Amino acid sequence: MSSRSLEQVTSEINECARRYPEFAQVKKLIEVLFQKQDSLLDKVKVNSEDLKIELLELENKLQNGVPLFASTVVDKELLIKFAEDACEALIETTPQLTENFHMFLEKLKQSIMQKDEVRISDVFSLMQEMEQSKQLERDLTTFFLTFVFSGVIATSLKDTIESIDTKLWEKGICPICGEKPHYGYLKGEGGSRTFDCWLCGCQWGSPRLKCPFCDNVAIDDMGYFTVEDNANCRIYFCKKCNAYHKTFDVREFVQDDVILAIHNLATLSYDLLAQREGFKPGSGLQWVNEEEHRKSAN
Ligand SMILES: [Zn+2]
Ligand SMILES: [Zn+2]
Repeated sequence: MSSRSLEQVTSEINECARRYPEFAQVKKLIEVLFQKQDSLLDKVKVNSEDLKIELLELENKLQNGVPLFASTVVDKELLIKFAEDACEALIETTPQLTENFHMFLEKLKQSIMQKDEVRISDVFSLMQEMEQSKQLERDLTTFFLTFVFSGVIATSLKDTIESIDTKLWEKGICPICGEKPHYGYLKGEGGSRTFDCWLCGCQWGSPRLKCPFCDNVAIDDMGYFTVEDNANCRIYFCKKCNAYHKTFDVREFVQDDVILAIHNLATLSYDLLAQREGFKPGSGLQWVNEEEHRKSAN
């Protein structure tokens, strides 16, 4: 998501505010965050040697279902710089949480610095560790950290991802970083499904009638629901593993480079709905406020 220009991001934010009325409440915050992030993007320097991969190794990994760059090391200093800026943006728009954000940032810095190295495959457990520290509500933790981690990782891998053809890949997880998807989109005449990785920004094709989390293909166990006033966002669920993900039907959208990360933020009420129905996010990303979820469960 960070590979786009600020202009594209702003126009997508406005588009989402038109499409999803609930987005108006957080629109300002997201604008400020993206503006802050934009000023950091050119600081992301990539050691291209780390990202070199021989064609044979590439094909072997893809055929054997091994994510290509899960073990790539992430620049710790850069993670901290992005986190500091995200923290500033959050304080700017939500000053009543200043102290909480500062404590969260301190804990995050500690956790990062304690590790000899942070590899891409460590990011998710770092998120869980921060969630368990309960410095912030879990949905805010997810929000803060997906922003920071994807900002650094998607930017570092952008050119590499663009140069790689992932059609040999058959798994539900991301072929680049190995994370489980939270959202994807339907496009083209047959409405084929493409996932869009929340962490590294890679897009990969996946059969529409197969659960990306448990590989279930029994159609009777799977389905999707949508909400009357906005059918662009669909919640796909699988009753076998009880997981859901979101898919955006962008077939009638005018612009062809849709920024799904923003559409995801604009439709968090769908996540709440999915969880009310008893499904858990297959990605493991907790986008729903715990208290809200409890309230709705009672
Ligand atoms: Zn990925
Ligand atoms: Zn499943």
